[in-house]
Amino acid sequence: MTTPPLPPPPGEGQVRTCVGCRATGPRSVLVRVVLVPHTLRAVVDERTDAPGRGAWLHADQTCLDLAERRRAFPRALRCAGPVDTAAVTEWFSTMTGSDLTRHTSSTKKAGWKPMGTR
Ligand SMILES: [Zn+2]
Repeated sequence: MTTPPLPPPPGEGQVRTCVGCRATGPRSVLVRVVLVPHTLRAVVDERTDAPGRGAWLHADQTCLDLAERRRAFPRALRCAGPVDTAAVTEWFSTMTGSDLTRHTSSTKKAGWKPMGTR
């Protein structure tokens, strides 16, 4: 049914665990979420170089929902109290509204024309 989460082996610095679905993945498929200093506002750290603690998450609304439901952000970011994820939600909605869906639909729609077969 469920596979137990494997702890990342030492030295595998490039693998992160999604705080939403708890699956591990390379940094390239996860986004880093950090708190704006001295606030409880979470933002997406697109360059992944912001100081402090970060929570890693798939660029997927489902994972964001999961993370919020299980209160993963306060835990991962070591803060007391609810984290305001409005900015992250917004970032995700622009992502899903553009790149992610366009990627999928363009793959589907990529109608190649058979040429010169007759
Ligand atoms: Zn995930």
